[in-house]
Amino acid sequence: AAKAGGRNRYRFYSDQMRQQAIARSSMEFELQTADWENQFNLVYQPLVNLADCRIYGHEALLRWQHPQRGELKPDSFLAIAEDNGMINPIGDWVIRSACQQAAAWRERWPATPLKISINLSPRQFLLPNLRQTIQTLLTTHGLKGSQLILEITEYTAMQNIGESIRVMHELRELGILLGIDDFGTGYSSLAYLNKFPLNILKIDQSFIHELDVEKENVLIKSIIDIGRNMDLLILAEGIEKPEQAELLKHLGCQLGQGYFYAPPLPVTDIVPPF
Ligand code: C2E
Ligand code: MG
Ligand code: MG
Ligand code: MG
Repeated sequence: AAKAGGRNRYRFYSDQMRQQAIARSSMEFELQTADWENQFNLVYQPLVNLADCRIYGHEALLRWQHPQRGELKPDSFLAIAEDNGMINPIGDWVIRSACQQAAAWRERWPATPLKISINLSPRQFLLPNLRQTIQTLLTTHGLKGSQLILEITEYTAMQNIGESIRVMHELRELGILLGIDDFGTGYSSLAYLNKFPLNILKIDQSFIHELDVEKENVLIKSIIDIGRNMDLLILAEGIEKPEQAELLKHLGCQLGQGYFYAPPLPVTDIVPPF
């Protein structure tokens, strides 16, 4: 294998890059020609109170039932949609479907208003009519703003800080809750975090997977402390083991999400107790 250096290795990488480019344009073509409105669906992953394991809400996650390739996860097609602009109609579809679902749940279980959490892409977050779209949906479905959580990543928030702050305040005026997703993977400065009118801080799963009961876990401890001092609800993503849940609870984290509690589920599996 040592001999595979030099020119051969270079060729290996350039072949691989060519393959990737082909795969990407093929995926883009498939997305553009797909009857995606009928092939997409949302699955729902519970967000759980660590203290008593009760459900805090559900995060809507996009899936594509591809007629040939089977079920595709967003990582395989959303970046393409973000680049070519298809994210706008797709994102709109996601918000609409999620609000419809929240309304259906409310009708079915009026005593327990379930929160639904929606991921917004960078482009979607900066669409001028976002507030109007959401306000109309809330009214149409008789939903309270507080039943909706909108998640944006650190990266999205930091793209244009002034504009982000403005949009966030607009959304907060509707009673909507705002969460920062994948926290710790971007380059956000804690000073700016304090300027955003946020409600929930979702710590990226890479930090959760690094937790070690034998160690101090200084970094995550500090994130939780700072977040709590800013009056944020702290949610740990990607909890897979009971020890992680225990430790996070001990460190002051209030909410969790991950395979330990439940994977993303088809809507028919979302049933009480809530
Ligand atoms: P995210 O918002 O950080 O969502 C959490 C991801 O972690 C989901 O991947 C979920 O299936 C996965 N996950 C949950 N629990 C565990 C666990 O215990 N272990 C591990 N290893 N993974 C876990 P998924 O569904 O593939 O989504 C990937 C990303 O795609 C999401 O990350 C989000 O950024 C984006 N996304 C998903 N749905 C939408 C959508 O409707 N619109 C937009 N704009 N982005 C979306
Ligand atoms: Mg998310
Ligand atoms: Mg995340
Ligand atoms: Mg993520």
